[in-house]
Amino acid sequence: MTNSIRPNFAELAKSQKFQTKAFIDGKFVDSISGKTFTTVNPANGRVITSIAECDKQDVEVAVAAAKAAFEDRRWAGLAPKERKRALLRLADLVEKHSQELALIESLDNGKPVDDALAADLPDAVETIRWHAEAIDKLYDQSSPTPGDLVSLVVREPIGVVGAVIPWNFPLAILAMKTAPALAGGNSIIVKPAEQTTLSALRFAELVAEAGIPDGVFNIVTGFGETVGQALGRHPDVECLTFTGSTEVGRYFLKYSAESNLKKVILELGGKSPAIVMDDVDDLQPIVEQLAIGILFSQGENCSAGSRLLVHEKIKGRLIEAVIEHFKSWTVGDPLVEGTRIGALIDDKHMNNILGYIKSGVEEGGRLILGGNQVRQETGGYYIEPTIFDDVSNKMTIAQEEIFGPVLSVITFKTVEEAIEIANDSPYGLAASLYTNNLHTAHKVSRAIRAGTVSVNCFSEGDQSVPFGGFKQSGFGGREKSFMAHDQYSEVKTIWIQLK
Ligand code: NAD
Repeated sequence: MTNSIRPNFAELAKSQKFQTKAFIDGKFVDSISGKTFTTVNPANGRVITSIAECDKQDVEVAVAAAKAAFEDRRWAGLAPKERKRALLRLADLVEKHSQELALIESLDNGKPVDDALAADLPDAVETIRWHAEAIDKLYDQSSPTPGDLVSLVVREPIGVVGAVIPWNFPLAILAMKTAPALAGGNSIIVKPAEQTTLSALRFAELVAEAGIPDGVFNIVTGFGETVGQALGRHPDVECLTFTGSTEVGRYFLKYSAESNLKKVILELGGKSPAIVMDDVDDLQPIVEQLAIGILFSQGENCSAGSRLLVHEKIKGRLIEAVIEHFKSWTVGDPLVEGTRIGALIDDKHMNNILGYIKSGVEEGGRLILGGNQVRQETGGYYIEPTIFDDVSNKMTIAQEEIFGPVLSVITFKTVEEAIEIANDSPYGLAASLYTNNLHTAHKVSRAIRAGTVSVNCFSEGDQSVPFGGFKQSGFGGREKSFMAHDQYSEVKTIWIQLK
């Protein structure tokens, strides 16, 4: 399938084939136990297919393969420009198969296929290209030494990397971890989220087609407590990169402490503020950005702008416009053109969100839009755009990550108060700020304790800038940009006494 005009995705879905086995040492294999688990389409609650359910034994085999590939230098030993060429071939293949990958992503995750095609896939392609292109442009260092000494400070691949992935942006996050790790010469073992494994397995077919050697890229399919934990505890996994909830992120620090002190990188949850000052004039572009901030990807976005902090002077006008605009975000079949909000990942998650909505009402929030499950007749898991007004920052809906299309409106009177509320959170992943005043823009963006602050837009930046969280939103480093390469390498000093 190549990119052209928009195909009839619902028709294509009927004949879509899926790879369902784990990918270890260049081969698709059943789990050693022979067990499988099912994956469900959140749009209708129906089983899509069964996937190999790996456990600790399969992780052992995958780690042995990845370690052998690293030690014989079949990949690490290539010139950086040769690894670059292979990764660029992979990016081209992902781009060529974007429509098919977007369809798989939508069927497995519930997100609108057009979002997957417009956002997730181009993001994955750009990520692979960016890190491929970077790798033969990263220089090592030499320090100032006397004439009879030479010092080299060199970057070396860390070895076998384990990558544990969440279900909200399965392919984009897989690419975010895989591209810099492979560019640097490491071997990698990926554990996709059990809810969204299928796009990773199709990606593995493209990795093989791109000519990346066997054993360098592996996928072990299965559950967190078995496969995820086994990777986290394995003595030959030197680095574990995780994106997911703060709760599970803590486990990886424990696994590392109790095993080989592997390097751990955590990208975790968020409760990001979107702050609107009273000096703004044109509200419409702001309203559109606020909607993207909380409704894009059904609100299942780590940096979702879930707390709207608005100056009391403009609150009335802004909220009226926000309500009107949110109504234009159609909840619908993810495969149908025009759907802006698709299905939530599963019934358990949907019920969690409904529980938060109930708690918002009970704790005194005023429900001014939505609040309900919709499209029950489909068998899928949908919630309409929901807004709470009169929220205090102490309420559960303002403190905990809901990970759904639920916006909490909090009013402030001064810039100082806005900063204080914004920072009153265990999280610090992102924030956005809308103002026409350069001084306010600078003051507030420096004062907010978050990894990314976007001004007059909702954004995570592109590949050229680092991404990660302050406080309980992250640990151990940054993804994207050249900083991502620091995560997957060790620094070595070589000190040479000349004769
Ligand atoms: P999750 O933490 O439940 O699961 C993430 C991964 O961890 C899955 O692959 C899962 O199988 C695995 N896992 C679960 N229990 C485990 C255990 N005991 N040991 C080892 N592995 C285990 O997260 P999720 O529900 O898939 O994703 C949603 C969360 O991810 C949200 O909190 C969101 O904010 C966060 N997220 C963060 C970022 C970021 O870059 N900061 C990006 C996307 C998502």
